[in-house]
Parts: sequence; structure tokens; C-alpha cells
Amino acid sequence: MNKLIIEKDKLDKNIEIIKGLTQAKIIAVVKGNGYGLGVLEYTRFLSEKGIDIFALSDVRDAVYISESGFSGRVLLLTPTNDDEEAEMIIKNRITTTIGSMTSALTINNAAARLNETAQVHIKIDTGFGRFGFLPDEVIDACTFISTLSNIKVTGAYSHLSFSFSKKPEHIYSQYRKFINSVEIMRQNGIDPGMLHICNSSAFLRFPQMHLDGVRIGSAFLGRIPIENVYGLQRIGFLKSNIIETKELPGKHNIGYANTFKTRNPVRTGIVPVGYRHGFGIEKSRDTFRLIDLLRYVYNDIKSFNKKSYVRIGDKSAQILGRVSMYNIVVDLTDIDAKVGDEVVLDANPLLVPIDIEREFI
Ligand SMILES: *Cc1c(COP(=O)(O)O)cnc(C)c1O
Repeated sequence: MNKLIIEKDKLDKNIEIIKGLTQAKIIAVVKGNGYGLGVLEYTRFLSEKGIDIFALSDVRDAVYISESGFSGRVLLLTPTNDDEEAEMIIKNRITTTIGSMTSALTINNAAARLNETAQVHIKIDTGFGRFGFLPDEVIDACTFISTLSNIKVTGAYSHLSFSFSKKPEHIYSQYRKFINSVEIMRQNGIDPGMLHICNSSAFLRFPQMHLDGVRIGSAFLGRIPIENVYGLQRIGFLKSNIIETKELPGKHNIGYANTFKTRNPVRTGIVPVGYRHGFGIEKSRDTFRLIDLLRYVYNDIKSFNKKSYVRIGDKSAQILGRVSMYNIVVDLTDIDAKVGDEVVLDANPLLVPIDIEREFI
């Protein structure tokens, strides 16, 4: 049976490396079902390692984690303009994000109805173009927030749009805009509380930007979009088994689109892992910029002849032909492997569907 395996010793090491790189408070981002590791078990693991702020994007996940009784706080990264959601957030003592006058009012009014004070972090849109007050709006926002008696500001943050860029100008510019906005808050009677702007890549690249907190997601999994010179290990692999072996003659096609032909007779093994299990889909194509499309086409051509491997015991077996939805075919010609033998495949947990069992080992 296919399983997603999470090695606790590697995860632990990554956490230690990350902790050793900063004095700032670590906010563990566990959105997207804990980057695919399984939000509850992953959060429990982080909590046992002393992490006590958990950031999520989905209000239901935030409620779920706050109900699970971890010490520390849950930070919801997505602002809400919905009264029912706002009440759910407040009843569960979730710290939430406000990034507009309406989201501030929604939370304040819900807190007033419940006779509570809601803790909020103010988000500044320094260049992402998504949630947050624009720097120009910060003075007005402060005036408005000062009139809201049922919210307490405990933090302020911003999100970088291109923290993995080779050119840091936009990153520096976002940072400066954030610091200026914080200054404006202070001048206008708002104590901004805990300040944070770094995600994993910025955290690793720009120690001078750590501020009071750093929001770490992908670095815990060792799956970062920048060169890994930090000793972080990749977390997550698929474990499967050979379900069939067979002999194919020379000059025989393998797989869709006839991209691979055997040269000589080969012995093959079939492994029941494919796109459906999150394997071989690392590259996303949700882009419409011509230059990006060209780059993808180029990468396709480049990777056309690139060999991919799986592990069988202490051997590497080459994948022959394209990955299909449910299966791959691997070369067992020089490997003494039989039906039932275990196969190990690299996969980003985030892409592995939720119905595939997770196992922490
Ligand atoms: C996802 C997310 C993060 C974490 O990003 P990584 O690059 O995975 O560390 C941080 N902040 C916000 C607002 C996010 O949405």
C-alpha cells in the first residue's frame, strides 16, 4: 500500500537548524494540511519541540488546531469579512489578521457581540497586492482602529512576493515600506506589537530582517526554492511496492506519448504510483506569461532526456517512459527485485492527496 513517510529525526534536525539561525520567535506555518504532513500530527510534533505559534490560512483548520489544546497561539493569516467566521475566530481565541477597515470592523463587532477582546495582527500590503492595508492607508487605519474598543493589536506583519528572487531590490523595498508603516503606527498611537515579515527564503537569506518573529513553512520540510546551503533535509517520501515484473523485448515502447523505447531486452517492474499520488507533478503550470510558458517548454525539452530514479533497497532504478496517473515502470534489469519489494520515491508532501496515509517514523 502506498504511504507518505515522514522521518521524525530529519524533521527534528531541520527544526534545530532553523532555531539555531535566529533569536526571533518562530511562527510555524502549518497551512495546507501542514504542508501535506497532516496538520494535527505535524503541529503536535512542532509543539513538542517548543514551538508555540501556529499560523494557518483556513479558518476551519485554525479552529481545529485551537480546539486540539496545544499551548501557545493560533494565528489566522486570512482576514475575514464574514460575521459567523469572525465569531468562530473569537470563541476559539484565535489571533486573526486584519488588512482592511471592513475586516477590522467585522472582528471588532463580533467581539463586541461576544463581550470579548479579539487579538489581531495588522497586515500591511507592501507589494504583494493581496491582503493588507497599503502604506498610504496606514494613518487612516490607525485612526479607525483606535476607535474600535473590542480589538487589541498584538502584532503587525507583511508578506514578501518574491523572497527567492536573485535580485533583492523588491525585497528591500517591501521591508522598508513595512518598517515605515510600523513607524507611522507608533506615531499614531498604535503599538504594533510583534513584527514579522520573513517567510522561509527571506529568513534564510536575510538575517537582518528577522524582526520579532519569522514565519516558517517550507524550510521545516527542507523544500525551499533557493539553494539549500543550510543542511536542511528534505522531508517526505512515498513508500510503495513492486506489483508486477515483466520482460520486454528490445525496441519496445514504454508509456504514454511513446517517449521511451527499449534498446535491448529489459526486465521491468510496475510501481502503482503516479500523478494521482502527487508523484511527478512538482512543476506547476498556473502561469500565462509567455516567457514562463517558454521556460516550461524549455524545461520539458531539457527534462525529456533527464533520467528519474526510484530507490529499491540500496539500488536506484530508472523510471522508464512517462509517469502516468496510477503507475510508473522501472528498470529492474540489473536489480534483483521481485513483486512485493519496497520502493521509495521522492514526493513533495504538499502534492500528495489527503487520502494517502501519512506515517511518522
Ligand atoms: C505560506 C506563508 C508563509 C510561509 O512561507 P514559506 O515560504 O513556506 O516559509 C509565510 N507567511 C505567509 C503569509 C504565508 O502565506
